[in-house]
Amino acid sequence: MNIALIAHDKKKQDIIHFTMAYKHVLKEHHLFATGTTGKNIADGTGLPIHRFQSGPIGGDQQIGAKIANNEMDAVIFFRDPLTAQPHEPDVSALMRLCDVHVIPLATNPAAAEIMVQALARGDFEWRNNAKHGQEGKQI
Ligand code: PGA
Repeated sequence: MNIALIAHDKKKQDIIHFTMAYKHVLKEHHLFATGTTGKNIADGTGLPIHRFQSGPIGGDQQIGAKIANNEMDAVIFFRDPLTAQPHEPDVSALMRLCDVHVIPLATNPAAAEIMVQALARGDFEWRNNAKHGQEGKQI
């Protein structure tokens, strides 16, 4: 599965700890991240991870484009709900695209833990069916 990982600045430590704890599951998947989050995760875990641009300069939108192309299977986005973000429109757009394309989105560690346990069980296999024959689907 293709999994996107993003964390706002005050949540970066949390996502490092999270990815360390679930490295045994995440290493079986293709990981993508916004720039700084990806660097922190790679440094902290050694996991290979494709890094897009930093979120505030377009990384969230690049991940959104992967979702629109049906190329992302899950998004883990540790948001900071207590700090204003200069790129809030991009954050909202990314979450909206998850809902448009029915892509599982976890926005805090409790939800992400459930998501990763489901991944480990193989509960995401339905995504393989969703990836076949859906290109250009009109909704
Ligand atoms: P960053 O972007 O990983 O480059 O810090 C995350 C974000 O704020 O969207």
